[in-house]
Amino acid sequence: MKYEVDERGFYGEFGGAFIPELLHHNCEELSQALKQYADTKAFKDEFNLLLKDYVGRPSPLYFAPNLSKKYKTNILLKREDLNHTGAHKINNAIGQALLAKRMGKTKIIAETGAGQHGVATATVCALMGLECIVFMGEIDIARQAPNVARMKMLGAEVVPATSGSKTLKDATNEAIRYWINHPETFYIIGSVVGPHPYPAMVTKFQAIISEEIKTQMKEKYGKENPDYVIACVGGGSNAAGAFYHFLEEENVKLITVEAAGLGVESGETAATTIKGTEGIIHGSRTLLMQDKDGQIVEPYSISAGLDYPGVGPLHAHLFKTRRAKFLNATDDEALKAAFMLTKEEGIIPALESSHALAALEKIDFKPQDIVILNLSGRGDKDLETYMKVSEKYS
Ligand SMILES: *Cc1c(COP(=O)(O)O)cnc(C)c1O
Repeated sequence: MKYEVDERGFYGEFGGAFIPELLHHNCEELSQALKQYADTKAFKDEFNLLLKDYVGRPSPLYFAPNLSKKYKTNILLKREDLNHTGAHKINNAIGQALLAKRMGKTKIIAETGAGQHGVATATVCALMGLECIVFMGEIDIARQAPNVARMKMLGAEVVPATSGSKTLKDATNEAIRYWINHPETFYIIGSVVGPHPYPAMVTKFQAIISEEIKTQMKEKYGKENPDYVIACVGGGSNAAGAFYHFLEEENVKLITVEAAGLGVESGETAATTIKGTEGIIHGSRTLLMQDKDGQIVEPYSISAGLDYPGVGPLHAHLFKTRRAKFLNATDDEALKAAFMLTKEEGIIPALESSHALAALEKIDFKPQDIVILNLSGRGDKDLETYMKVSEKYS
């Protein structure tokens, strides 16, 4: 099990829990609860029932005929965009909220970038009667207005993060700061980042994606393994979920797509594995963009969900061991891909997922290949951005 987390929370040399003394108890308590509850039948039954009846799982594995023709191969979209609240984030939010309830917690905090994790968390808090505070960068509050409105309607308090680049990293800083001062709260992290046990826990809850892919592959093609699985990477949770059950299947090619922003050499980018070095961010040892003094270099992407200066420790490990191939797509390439999918298949993708779609241009597929692309979310939240550029791309 080369790609499984170890007892101390490491994937190879990446991971761990590099946190202030004041947070040790919280992380320890969470690790215990995860061990105690997450694998019990009662927990799994409750989780799976909500995924089925509330989220609408299994999400379809859709054979995209026009896309397949265009790229001369077999392309299937894993439709996480069809989940309740519009992205994969809800899978993890439900898992963590169920854990929080078992731990007797009544107050939830979360960080959000594009607002999808904030909406997912506010949604489960409404469902389960939990108090909810969401930290969000000031810039993201402006560029993802529909999601801010949804969170408020769902009863969450949205707190602006005003430091740094006023985006996802800064929202995460604020959430961690609040958590240190209010240790009675439960922090629902939205990606495979943060101190142990978060990366492994979020991977566990998102692994439903690849579990379903295996079953759906078997039904359609009589075998469980595709040739490719492609996913975009911000922190890396949709990719971790789509990859998980294929990690040890070395003949399945795993492709991750990072946000290149204005270009990897432009200084305005979020392509962490190219521009990053090893260091510690938000409690784990991983790859991140930093200057020679260890100061974080502000990331940039048109997509708020990918605008993060690090990747989770699992992805740092997949990069280092070359188990996954890391590509990237610029704002321009992602926008092109968004309009392309809309025209070809009648599906408006999230800007984040459009980065994964842009990778279809960059890989030489064989006609018999089976290519699965994780369509992490839908584009409703990005309509304003799409409208602004529609003349150029449609
Ligand atoms: C949050 C988000 C992402 C990026 O987060 P990961 O943890 O890397 O998956 C990608 N796509 C959508 C639609 C999102 O909402």
